[in-house]
Amino acid sequence: MNAGSKSPTIFVSIDMEGCATLVHWDEVRPSSSAEYRRAQTVMTSECNAVIDGAFAAGAGRVIVNDSHSAMRNLLLEDLDARADVIGGRIKRDYMLQGLTHECAASFFIGYHGAIGDGAAVMGHTYSPRVIYECRLNDVPVSELPINAAFAGHFGVPVALVSGDATTVSESKRVLPWAFAVQTKESLSYYAADCRSPHDVCDELRRKSKDAVEALGAFAPLHLECPIDMEIDTMRTSHADMICLVPGFERRGPRTVGFSAPDALAMYRALTALIYVGAAA
Ligand SMILES: [Zn+2]
Repeated sequence: MNAGSKSPTIFVSIDMEGCATLVHWDEVRPSSSAEYRRAQTVMTSECNAVIDGAFAAGAGRVIVNDSHSAMRNLLLEDLDARADVIGGRIKRDYMLQGLTHECAASFFIGYHGAIGDGAAVMGHTYSPRVIYECRLNDVPVSELPINAAFAGHFGVPVALVSGDATTVSESKRVLPWAFAVQTKESLSYYAADCRSPHDVCDELRRKSKDAVEALGAFAPLHLECPIDMEIDTMRTSHADMICLVPGFERRGPRTVGFSAPDALAMYRALTALIYVGAAA
């Protein structure tokens, strides 16, 4: 990691469900609708805000990975041209494609609550069609700690998180050092008390700058290894299919398990599970 570098590399994984004002799948599911187009604009604006803040603080490089759905959401013509962008699928490292030990910090933007969280707009954990619950070392987890553990494997800390209030409170619990920006307060699965998207972008720009200026104050997340990953699937057919992948074991009609030596192996197994499960 290059936290001490004068021109650090910042990695940005940007999702969509946690961006300002978005509350429904109709908005974030890729389509030709005006609603989705607007959601792309919101996401692109938030991405631009963190890119601008990072460069204002002296970042040498910002790598952005479009991490939502088919991963072709950002409006690239409108995105800050200084950033390097990874779009599209299929990607081995999925939401973290492009993150390496060269990165000084990672930013998780537009993140959302886990499936089962009480107040989480569009709460889900990776694949809402396949995954009913994901546990790491027996603890139910959202995408936030899963992805933070992947970054931690490379010695890269999470320095900035944005999303709804549920995401921010999870961040305070599992990544207490990370700066956070609350985009909305989820009231239910399809409703939120929303902040102005302009205010959210202003705060994202400010906190991105603050985070890059504070590099060195953040800690990589390390989970106890080996990591036991256990997943309840939506249907038995998902578990049938996932168990064809070497290393997965059947632990129940809708439960599969994987013992990973480290967070990288855990994450790559999860990526396989997502892609394979979707084919069931
Ligand atoms: Zn998403």
